[in-house]
Amino acid sequence: MATERFYASRWTRGNRIFRTLLEVTDTAVIRRKRSGFTVDEMSIHLQRVASVRIETGLLWSDILIESTGGGDDIQSHGHRKADARRIKELIEAAQSRQLGGTAPGGERTCPFCAETIKAAAVVCRHCGRDLPAQRSE
Ligand SMILES: [Zn+2]
Repeated sequence: MATERFYASRWTRGNRIFRTLLEVTDTAVIRRKRSGFTVDEMSIHLQRVASVRIETGLLWSDILIESTGGGDDIQSHGHRKADARRIKELIEAAQSRQLGGTAPGGERTCPFCAETIKAAAVVCRHCGRDLPAQRSE
């Protein structure tokens, strides 16, 4: 997945001179904001994102990305509605991709020997057969 960048609109509060930039990469969501000569940068690893909330006003959307454990939430306002939706989509897609197979308690039953195996297994550790691709539920 390529990194996608989303700039806040220049016509919103706090974005007239330096616009907030949200970047969604394979592994993290990053907020960059210049103020004067410094760049304020925050990032949350995608696996630590607890929730993505979008509040849509008349023209622009505010985005709140909460991290598990609290403390370093990312907030950004003045984004286009379509961008806000895309950010949420990207984060949720990345999370379900990464969680597939590694979720705690992710187990299934081998279709050949009926023993319990890890959901992400490609070969059964009991009977040694190749397993069909994991169904996503
Ligand atoms: Zn088996």
